[in-house]
Amino acid sequence: MAKSLILCTFFLSLLGPSVVHARWDCSFPKKDINTSKCIGKKVHLTFDDGPHPTYTPKILESLKNPHKVPATFFVTTANLDKSNNQKRMELVRKIQESREHVLATHGHEHIAHDTRIIGGEHRESFDASESLADIQASTAWLDRATGGAFSKKDNRLIRFPYARGITPSPIELNEIKRREGMSRQAGRDDYILHHSAAMRNAASEGYSHVGWNHDSEDSTGRYNESNQDIYVDNFLKNLCNSSHRHIISLLHDIQRVNVLPSKENSRKTVLDEVIMKAKCLGVEFVGIREILNKDLPLNVYTDIEKVVADETQDALTALIDTLPNSGEAPVKVCPCEVEISSQSGGCISDYNGAYYENCKGSTSICYQGKWYAKSALENPMKIDDVRVASACGFKQSRTCYSSSTKKEYGQCEGESSVCFDGRWHSRQGLSRAKDMDELVIASTCGIRQVR
Ligand SMILES: [Zn+2]
Repeated sequence: MAKSLILCTFFLSLLGPSVVHARWDCSFPKKDINTSKCIGKKVHLTFDDGPHPTYTPKILESLKNPHKVPATFFVTTANLDKSNNQKRMELVRKIQESREHVLATHGHEHIAHDTRIIGGEHRESFDASESLADIQASTAWLDRATGGAFSKKDNRLIRFPYARGITPSPIELNEIKRREGMSRQAGRDDYILHHSAAMRNAASEGYSHVGWNHDSEDSTGRYNESNQDIYVDNFLKNLCNSSHRHIISLLHDIQRVNVLPSKENSRKTVLDEVIMKAKCLGVEFVGIREILNKDLPLNVYTDIEKVVADETQDALTALIDTLPNSGEAPVKVCPCEVEISSQSGGCISDYNGAYYENCKGSTSICYQGKWYAKSALENPMKIDDVRVASACGFKQSRTCYSSSTKKEYGQCEGESSVCFDGRWHSRQGLSRAKDMDELVIASTCGIRQVR
């Protein structure tokens, strides 16, 4: 018996390196791994933030030999806009042309497509129009690298940087609800489908969003040669112990830990080791389409078809709409008799953490090229309020007749007029006032933004 086992092992070793490559010693310690939960799990690997000129080729090699593990590469296209980008462009083309892998976008710049708050502080993020421009720029770069092949494919995929736009933290969701005038009861899914400007932009450009439900933690900066075994152990533990049966795993092809030589087989990488050990545990690596057609939560997969294209109403618009006699009068500004002193000095936006000059405080609103305090704009005075009307310098004559005061007023804007900041405005016009946080509008205020 013992003799035949030895012979058998001997003949197996004669079969050559291809068989040896495909095997891994499955007797590794499995402490803390719930091995019974591993069996039958279907996993798809995704790589963000690349391509990297030296790591990405190694990762492609690990995926290919001998495993043939399919993966999705969410490319940060600003990487293609660097000097010496030929190598990176080639890698993008190679991924696009490969049968197993999927080329997808991670946006052009690596900036959040919605509110991002870390430790109570707002971090740099795109507003709605910047989000759209970034998605379009990224598509253009991927088309440039692939000779237009990228855009020709259906079911294109995007992953927003940090998944913001899809996966807000609780504190971010509260901020978004406040900003969007959403109800307090609204949850994350309501935000994703109805209020995420980022998701609407992505859908309008033909993209579905893919998040993840397993994080390799390769981007934490914790792992290197000295503790790569802990990386592998944690990867497998979190994968197997997950309550999800279908898993989209988050990795980064710019993270060196994945391409370090394995301590157990120096001809192989850490990524090889992860794949082989996961296979030992009964995990199956599958293509992304096999996962996406499963019942995944919205933050893991937002199908383009599910996104509802409705405009959200901001709180100010809602308020203005409640005012009586809201008419269609064109915006026309009367000369001001009350000069509002322009206040200099800057402020930091609550929303995006950016610094602005020439605003009027953190609650500023930009309207018709001037900064106003939001609270003031929310309380425009009605034409019928004589006290304030005088601040508009009207001449009481013949133009407008107020039904409440039963008086006539001059220099007003018709029956939908409101007096604000010493000028007559139509309510309609005021409703278009914009938050300082909208950079597009801020520029009409002549602000200089200092980051
Ligand atoms: Zn990223």
